[in-house]
Amino acid sequence: MPYSYDDQNIFAKILRGEIPNETVLETEHTLAFKDIQPGAPVHVLVIPKGAYVTFDHFASEATDAEIADFTRAAAEVCRMTGVSPGEGGNGFRVISNAGPDGVQEVPHYHLHILGGKVLGRMLPNLKD
Ligand code: 5GP
Repeated sequence: MPYSYDDQNIFAKILRGEIPNETVLETEHTLAFKDIQPGAPVHVLVIPKGAYVTFDHFASEATDAEIADFTRAAAEVCRMTGVSPGEGGNGFRVISNAGPDGVQEVPHYHLHILGGKVLGRMLPNLKD
């Protein structure tokens, strides 16, 4: 079944300027902003400006220009926030939740970039 995009989701409203955000980086195809409920000292959301629901939707249907811009912007956020090991930072985790099993709250594709502390094991409760 093809993806259908709900343009009333909260990130669509942020992209339209209807809801404020703390922007970290904006490029031609990408917006990065601070998560409203940070789970770590660094918690930035990176979203494409295009109407994509999940990682696989974006990866299969976005243009090469969108994918390159998004990927480079995510790397720039890692550098800007000081978590990139290549720049002397202590590391980070990238998460992208999708659908009900992935416990995706906002149906607009996004990366979480988390860092600034030891994040623990990725999936501590696999049996849940
Ligand atoms: P998901 O569960 O979809 O992967 O993550 C959605 C994220 O969006 C959550 O971490 C949540 O805190 C964040 N979030 C939800 N509403 C807003 C908002 O209005 N502004 C910002 N900056 N983040 C939001």
